Amino acid sequence: PPPAEKFEYQAEVSRLMDLIVNSLYSNKEVFLRELISNASDALDKLRYLSVTNPELSKDAPNLDIRIYADKENGIITLTDSGIGMTRQELVDCLGTIAQSGTAKFMKALKDSKDAGGDNNLIGQFGVGFYSAFLVADRVIVSTKSPKSDKQYVWEGEANSSSFTIQEDTDPQSLIPRGTRITLHLKQEAKNFADPERIQKLVKNYSQFVSFPIYTWQEKGYTKEVEVEDDPTETKKDDQDDQTEKKKKTKKVVERYWDWELTNETQPIWLRNPKEVTKEEYNEFYRKAFNEYLDPLASSHFTTEGEVEFRSILYVPPVSPTGKDDIVNQKTKNIRLYVKRVFISDDFDGELFPRYLSFVKGVVDSHDLPLNVSREILQESRIVRIMKKRLVRKAFDMILGISLSENREDYETFWENFGKHLKLGCIEDRENHKRIAPLLRFFSSQSENDMISLDEYVENMKPEQKAIYFIASDSITSAKNAPFLEKMLEKGLEVLYLVEPIDEVAIQSLKAYKDKDFVDISKEDLDLGDKNEEKEAAVKKEFGQTCDWIKKRLGDKVASVQISNRLSSSPCVLVSGKFGWSANMERLMKAQSA
Ligand code: ADP
Ligand code: MG
Repeated sequence: PPPAEKFEYQAEVSRLMDLIVNSLYSNKEVFLRELISNASDALDKLRYLSVTNPELSKDAPNLDIRIYADKENGIITLTDSGIGMTRQELVDCLGTIAQSGTAKFMKALKDSKDAGGDNNLIGQFGVGFYSAFLVADRVIVSTKSPKSDKQYVWEGEANSSSFTIQEDTDPQSLIPRGTRITLHLKQEAKNFADPERIQKLVKNYSQFVSFPIYTWQEKGYTKEVEVEDDPTETKKDDQDDQTEKKKKTKKVVERYWDWELTNETQPIWLRNPKEVTKEEYNEFYRKAFNEYLDPLASSHFTTEGEVEFRSILYVPPVSPTGKDDIVNQKTKNIRLYVKRVFISDDFDGELFPRYLSFVKGVVDSHDLPLNVSREILQESRIVRIMKKRLVRKAFDMILGISLSENREDYETFWENFGKHLKLGCIEDRENHKRIAPLLRFFSSQSENDMISLDEYVENMKPEQKAIYFIASDSITSAKNAPFLEKMLEKGLEVLYLVEPIDEVAIQSLKAYKDKDFVDISKEDLDLGDKNEEKEAAVKKEFGQTCDWIKKRLGDKVASVQISNRLSSSPCVLVSGKFGWSANMERLMKAQSA
């Protein structure tokens, strides 16, 4: 055979390997989940590419995964008929270029060390292919890509900083297409090579893999065989005629080995929502998106008519980028299928607007062509209609959380994704009606619990026409603003807009339930209590004082006026009717600094 070539692992991979090999992580069985998930990805890729290029799958039309456990020798073999890897792909994917999953894991590990804890990160993230080294001390990957006419073997060992690749020429080992991974188990992990155990693990981990997974199982059937008379037994059952007669045949179990289908391949979204339990939805979420925590909410629906598709959407329990990060448009949060064939999870606003990009889920369309490309997605009328429906369903789902008895759920949601909805106020006029009821703010009458705009409106004075707000950098400074005095005196509630984005969001909404939003720090605040005569008298008395102050301050202020807005403070600085509010000015300054 051609000689093996040796490669060094990339530094990050090498660190990861060390960590895995020496890990005390007890839940080592996750290796199977990771390898099956890679096999399933490889099959997905093949199925997708075969749509436009049927040649690709002609050498092995069956798309499946087969797992063989050799108990005696402590070896597990996992074979898929997926896309396989070319020699270059082997070099790149298994060892020299750290995959995104690896990088994500290393970052989480670093963060968690910084935070002083290690929360079973291996299980939480999955460490991909390298998890094979949780249980094996020698791993062999033999793979055949339809793009290449040769098959290659990758071989790596625990505690080694290098791996080898060479052409596979062993006739026993050749496969028409796909990848076979052979794990030589470590002494202490040998008991994984047990067909029954493998069967249990597959059932547990791969319920939602949409390709058949077969495991090599011992089976039996009973058959009757004739037996010779056994003189000792005849003696014992002497008086019993019936047994006498039966003795001539005997039931025996005939044993043999065969592949057994071990998973259910009906995708959960094709099932009837009435028959799927909450736990199944949660489990699908965790498995499909490699998540650790259950979602906050889910929604499973079918749309018919103009366009037909099925979908399950989820609201995650936490924002992956942290709540202070800006909204990320490009996520891998929506998995698009066309008639069960996985098409893509790489979207850029085609299915959900940027501000809703945190929503996760699967969408299976009946109307899109299988060979749908990004260009088609962007142009397609069908996709536009789908997007509209998906957005509507997402809002229904979020509204559902807000109406839930468990108030904490919505608090969690708001903490993580409130900013996204505010961005929605700015970017998506069409959905203002849906977004506005979901907003939450602190107010002068509710400094500890946020209120909704509906709660505000309900609490309005009979003669009150507007929704009042003040924008500031904190509740404390909002509370101490002199503008507030008169409002408090009159018992008018004022919303505290304390996040930088709040003011722009509210200004985009303009009104809620026909009540305008009014900034109490602006010049022309009208509380409907004007007393013209009194004002004229005061103006006359203090007109000269105003002129004098204006002269002293010069260009620093636009004008100095008599006002009826204050109760105990002698004067207040307000911003002009058409200018920026003080808060906006502060923000703009901060940005240009
Ligand atoms: P991830 O699955 O997150 O990309 P992994 O470490 O699990 O990371 O796998 C690394 C890469 O190796 C995969 O992205 C894929 O390109 C390749 N790979 C792994 N297993 C297979 C397989 N069974 N068939 C084809 N390619 C595979
Ligand atoms: Mg993987």
